Amino acid sequence: MCQFCNVGCGYDVYVWPAGEEGGLKPGEHGVVYRLKDQVYGRELTPQSTDFTKLAPLTHEKGIPWISESMVVRTIRRDWKRGRGTGEWREVYVAQIPSPECPINKGNHSLRGGTSGERNWSPWNVAGARRLKQPMVRFGGRFEAVPWDYAIDLVARVVKGVIDKWGVDNPKWGKEGHAVFAHRMDHGGGGGGAMIENTAAGLFFFYGVRTAFARIHNRSFFGPENPAIGDAGPGAMNNSLHDLRLADVIIYWGTNSYSTGTVMFIQHALDNLRGQTAEEKRRWFAGEPVVDTHMIIVDPRRTETVEAAKAAAPDRVLHLAPEPGTDIVLANAIARVIYERYRDTVDKILAVYKQAAQRGFKWDENAWRLYLEEALEINKKTLDQYLAEAERITGVPRRDIEKAAEIIGAPKPGGAPKRVWLMYEKGIIWNQNYRSIYALVDLCTMTGAFRGIPGTGCQRQGGHQEGYAGPEPPPPPWTAERHHVSPWNFAKEKGIQLNTYDDYKRLMEAWYKEVYTEGYYKTRWPAGDKYMPTTDFRLVAGEGKVLWVHDMDNYKLAPAAQRLKAAVSDRAWRVTRYVFAEAFAKIGGSDSKEQYDVKAVEIPVTTRPSSAEYAARVLEALEKTGGLFMIVQDIYPIFMMEDAHVVLPVAFNNGETPDVRMSVHERRFRIADAWMDPPGEAKPDWWIYAMVAKRIVELYEAEGKGNDPVAQRFRRAFQPIWDAVERNARDPRVEVENEIFKTYIANADETYAKLGVGFEVQYWTPAFKKLDLNILRRFRTVGVILPLTELNISPDGTVEARGVVNIMEPALNPQYREEVVIARPDGTIERRIEMVPSEKARAYAVGGLRAWPALWLGYPPYVEEARRRYKYWVINGRYNEIWQTGYADPNSAVVIARWPYSFIQINPADARREGLQNGDVVVVYNDHGSVPAVVWISEAVKEGHIFLIMAHPYSVGANAVTTPSVEPVAQNPDYKLTKADLVKAGTLQPELKAILTFKDIKFA
Ligand code: SF4
Repeated sequence: MCQFCNVGCGYDVYVWPAGEEGGLKPGEHGVVYRLKDQVYGRELTPQSTDFTKLAPLTHEKGIPWISESMVVRTIRRDWKRGRGTGEWREVYVAQIPSPECPINKGNHSLRGGTSGERNWSPWNVAGARRLKQPMVRFGGRFEAVPWDYAIDLVARVVKGVIDKWGVDNPKWGKEGHAVFAHRMDHGGGGGGAMIENTAAGLFFFYGVRTAFARIHNRSFFGPENPAIGDAGPGAMNNSLHDLRLADVIIYWGTNSYSTGTVMFIQHALDNLRGQTAEEKRRWFAGEPVVDTHMIIVDPRRTETVEAAKAAAPDRVLHLAPEPGTDIVLANAIARVIYERYRDTVDKILAVYKQAAQRGFKWDENAWRLYLEEALEINKKTLDQYLAEAERITGVPRRDIEKAAEIIGAPKPGGAPKRVWLMYEKGIIWNQNYRSIYALVDLCTMTGAFRGIPGTGCQRQGGHQEGYAGPEPPPPPWTAERHHVSPWNFAKEKGIQLNTYDDYKRLMEAWYKEVYTEGYYKTRWPAGDKYMPTTDFRLVAGEGKVLWVHDMDNYKLAPAAQRLKAAVSDRAWRVTRYVFAEAFAKIGGSDSKEQYDVKAVEIPVTTRPSSAEYAARVLEALEKTGGLFMIVQDIYPIFMMEDAHVVLPVAFNNGETPDVRMSVHERRFRIADAWMDPPGEAKPDWWIYAMVAKRIVELYEAEGKGNDPVAQRFRRAFQPIWDAVERNARDPRVEVENEIFKTYIANADETYAKLGVGFEVQYWTPAFKKLDLNILRRFRTVGVILPLTELNISPDGTVEARGVVNIMEPALNPQYREEVVIARPDGTIERRIEMVPSEKARAYAVGGLRAWPALWLGYPPYVEEARRRYKYWVINGRYNEIWQTGYADPNSAVVIARWPYSFIQINPADARREGLQNGDVVVVYNDHGSVPAVVWISEAVKEGHIFLIMAHPYSVGANAVTTPSVEPVAQNPDYKLTKADLVKAGTLQPELKAILTFKDIKFA
């Protein structure tokens, strides 16, 4: 699978000895496909791969075009006795977009298409950049140390912090809430997924038992899309099959051409161009097939808008609201649909109401509350409502009405349109809970949740998904860990919900306590009480250890430079205490100007043992308010500037296997290993297991082997330690497979024994028969989750069945079940069958509940910024740059395209500021500043600038993003940032000459 984005394109990997060559004809090379895909009417055979017939776009037919960027020359062991064993030898590795995969059918984006060359090699940039040795800070510099040293030091400090600052819990013993974990929770985006997550979860949430964790893109450990979960459907509920069959496609705050490229070009554009009309006829049972329309909501005229308009100029509507006003726009479109297309709405509501008679939970009171309070149907006329919406959003009334017509007007014959909506960070990072709920309500009204082919309403995702692990503990001051949804709030306050008036009382109390009297006055997110917001707390001096795993918060935290200043100051207090005590007397605030300079002067006359080092660290933590910092990653990150320990990791994309799924149809596959990690890099699971082991040994050495903390670590990691031991005796024992079987396939039994709840995304009892070797049989096709069945025949045939759209069995008598069969000869068959819904009701969505998303004006941080600064800072991605840019310096073509961070600025603003293309400006506000090269572009409106979220060599937008987080979902409000800019200079002519400042257009 691709290592990068949410789409989860399949990739086949081939490794062969350097110096050996094949031929172009089938059988003369190693590329072989065996696929019968009835869903897309494709059959690929070993004979398909005749490279003498290579022509444009033959990848769909099984002859992939292989570019130089897909190949790397590197070294690998021979693996004769199992993975990671034997002699090193020179090999080629080719990573080729898989024609078998139903997601990309051999297609790729520029990101995935350069994955191959980004594998490490002794001769390339990736190999030079990789972290290869554990390193420990001795004074002002890092030195390589053996694993034993690093593990012992980390184990002693973590144990010491739990012993000293642990919070007593009668059931669990001491809980280590002073250990702060900044850890990913996902798959893709640097590899990673269920196996990696399991090990991190066992360590932090079960062994350490800290509630103070954070995810890579939000400063707490909790859901990104709680509103759509509270509404019922959850954030991933439909499929690419639905996208291909939709009549109306809505992309809301996604910029999908750049951020979900193959999903957009392979499926959405196919549909928009009419290329899926035949598929629609097969699934619509006589309902007419109409021209597809696309609505794109984005303040910028993005590449997505350009590409869609190029494909169907008259059927694409672009709405460009002012940042933060999407709630108003969604409600306004819904209000028009409700008034003008009531028959359509009534037909759709009838589906939910009918289902309610067989147990589906349709909440009529919540729906009425939405109509009356959010759409104000009995309070304002349509004219009044739309005039207000136009004023707030800046979207002309005629465009709001046009959108409503596209969505709401029925098809010839009266059937409602099949509506499919996808949202992402434009919404998630913009007053999360209410913005998502506004879209969920719109989707409910328009039937996007009807579950029939061609409908859907969900997130796009940033990366792939694959969360698994024990539930995180609550913070010590509360027994529950949850977000402050209206429904949790009602429970907490004892508000009964029987009548419409009860719902209204809840709404008023919730809005008042959480927003108007809460966050809008206190600036403290209500949810922090239940799921601590770690960034604020680190800045406030809380926490003793910060363990950073696969992320870089000096780039990705809101107001990142503020977090860096605080963390850096605290980390260097420890360094100074350990290596130059005299410096430790300088207070944090006094030392701000000098600590970097002093740090390099710190003398290191002796190298302490790991035990001595740890003892000094624990003293320092007590006396200085400092922070001990561990970085665990594959490449150097900005946070290493201040860290004490660096742990080099084997990449979960090619160096250690893991499992994860695509976001758009929950397609679950193994991301297998094909290389050895460089130097001494080790898998994440190994690092956690070994530190856990050392912690237990330290307790045992003190005669406290039965301490509850030691017992927790032992219980959690014993199966992994046993597997490591078996692997040492016989390398064919795959530790990752043992982890998968114990903690993922059999999560129900394992976590019951551990006495905690667990999460394995879309786990069903059919998982119990799965293991990595079975998943290998399904290659890049994989299986769709939730699995309803996994059948293994005596002849070795494996059949997996999964639900295509998880609304479908909830609301319809039959549902689409994807059947994937892996035959013993390697053939994979794929088809979709209609199956009675009773079979999957247990895994389907149980109900639908609306909630009124009210516009309350901007949050206080944002209001303040609006008064002070001129420009909205629209932030997002370039197509080629991935996340923090961690893997981008490895690709010469990517770095040549985007050597600097750019801002887009409208020509009128550029004139006023006296700016030309290629000038360098500094974008600044109270939170920080960042330089960027000017690109004058009509893509942004006047008063808006576009700044990349992160760049390989620059902090990017997070230097200036607001620290504001949403009070219910606690996700950052990155999109609500304002700043000013000042010209700092201009690039040299020879540098300008290698850049392009043309707007991105499509033919
Ligand atoms: S669209 Fe996403 S998953 Fe597909 S090749 Fe590109 S980066 Fe990889």
